[in-house]
Amino acid sequence: MLKTHTCGELRKQHVGQTVTLAGWVHRRRDHGGLVFIDLRDRDGLTQIVFNPAISSEAHGLATNLRMEFVIRVTGRVAARPTGQENPALATGDVELLVERAEVLNEAKLPPFLINVEENVDESLRLKYRYLDLRRERLQRNLTIRHRAIKFIRDYLDARGFIEIETPILIKSTPEGARDYVVPSRIHPGKFYALPQSPQQLKQLLMVAGFDRYYQIARCFRDEDLRADRGPEFTQLDIEMAFVEQDDVLNLVEGCFTEMVKTVTPHKRVLSPFPRLTYAEAIARYGSDKPDVRFGMELVEVGDVVAGSDFQIFASALQTGGQVKGIRAPGCASYTRKQIDELVEMAKAKGARGLATIALAADGIKSPLTKFLSEAEMRALIERLRGEPGDLLLFVADQPKVVADALGALRLELGRRLNLAPKDLLAFVWVVDFPLFEWNAETQRWDATHHLFTSPKPRDLPLLDTDPGRVLADCYDLVCNGSELASGSIRIHRRDLQEKILAILQYSREDAFARFGHMLTAFEYGAPPHGGIAPGIDRLVALMCDEASMRDVMAFPKTAQATDLMMDAPAEITAEQLAELHLAITDDQ
Ligand code: ASP
Repeated sequence: MLKTHTCGELRKQHVGQTVTLAGWVHRRRDHGGLVFIDLRDRDGLTQIVFNPAISSEAHGLATNLRMEFVIRVTGRVAARPTGQENPALATGDVELLVERAEVLNEAKLPPFLINVEENVDESLRLKYRYLDLRRERLQRNLTIRHRAIKFIRDYLDARGFIEIETPILIKSTPEGARDYVVPSRIHPGKFYALPQSPQQLKQLLMVAGFDRYYQIARCFRDEDLRADRGPEFTQLDIEMAFVEQDDVLNLVEGCFTEMVKTVTPHKRVLSPFPRLTYAEAIARYGSDKPDVRFGMELVEVGDVVAGSDFQIFASALQTGGQVKGIRAPGCASYTRKQIDELVEMAKAKGARGLATIALAADGIKSPLTKFLSEAEMRALIERLRGEPGDLLLFVADQPKVVADALGALRLELGRRLNLAPKDLLAFVWVVDFPLFEWNAETQRWDATHHLFTSPKPRDLPLLDTDPGRVLADCYDLVCNGSELASGSIRIHRRDLQEKILAILQYSREDAFARFGHMLTAFEYGAPPHGGIAPGIDRLVALMCDEASMRDVMAFPKTAQATDLMMDAPAEITAEQLAELHLAITDDQ
């Protein structure tokens, strides 16, 4: 090794020893003849002192050192003079008195500061990602990511799981998103696809008898990109045979609870994780990914206002709709403009309007006073447990609109009012999703989770009569309002799988062409099985308090699916195209 210690290692007990350190020049200060440098490596910072009285040669070199130069220094560890210790630094009791120094490499002035936590344009950070990664925050994030994944591996290993790699070049069998495809050189006109997840392969591993499988799996989806999604991501892919829903839930709950305790002990989780049915989540939080770090739940008030003269309430109720409200504590003082903003937010979610009651110090302020009797108003306030100073907000509409609008307002107000405790990772299970969702555009059923998900056995008869009411044996893990994982008990019989494919309007030929390998495998003694796949990037981002998953990935793509550092995607040569039997056309 070119060094004897790391830059985070030296303590009082090393005083008097001669050591060699190597790293980057983090910060440099000239102090009347002495040059102080904070030398940095992944492990930390050490103050090194160049004193001309100790070595004029080393001191001479130090005067020419610039930020991010890579240097190597040898010298004696000394206690810092009393009063000059730095308690903020692990090595803050000592310094290194340099006797010999050499420059291992020079550095150009970086395009942004490495040693200061400042806001840098993300495209610049991504172009020079290797410099961005030198910064403390990303060093910390990637370390937490490593620890989390290691914890998961150890936890699962201790419980009899084995990690099995599955191929990256597979067959295109879209699971809901668009596949990334790879042209085959050897088979003209044919394509591989990159896996959207190892879903089918992990199920086939269950057929193969590997009854406890996991993989830290890279997945690819060629989706129209949203800010919080990238084209490639990492999942903790899990599958187990001979299990029921609770077995999968308990495993993941145990693993994540212990992992948070071990890896990010400053965070806490709810124990046990609350379990909500899909219907409850929508009813109480207006969302199937509820942020349960705070209350402000949606409250049904239809019965209270059923007889009122307020036309909007009455007509919503008469046409199968709902009237629901939320209570924003302390927001009675909202100005007209602030309320208008909330109204716009509700409208953006499809609501026709938003009714408010401000419980102001000088009385109730509400457009509803004209329409509601005093008793109705009182009952409404009571139902929401309104207190002086509160603002009550109501939406009357079809259930989905009410949920979407109040769900969004709840999140916005929760954010404005800072209601979510910062240290809480509020994992919550959402279960009992419908098996199918009606797609109004294509006029057919889509699988809510994916097409391998098993219906609840008691709902099997409904498949023929009322598919929309069939519940699935599937579950989501949500954390702080983000969906972290989906999973399900799978179909393991060919006849049922074929039936589901038929409801999803796959012809027999198409079903066999795409999923023949699964259908065939199910005929060779496929055991009952189920699994789940938590997203590692989102999980680690939550553990690291990062809003963007890119900040917990070493070399992420932008939201436009580009790699700014390597400049991908990029053209390939005419020879490469010809070899792949491809031609580029200008067609859109
Ligand atoms: N393969 C599914 C997904 O990627 C997860 C699962 O069902 O295990 O969402």
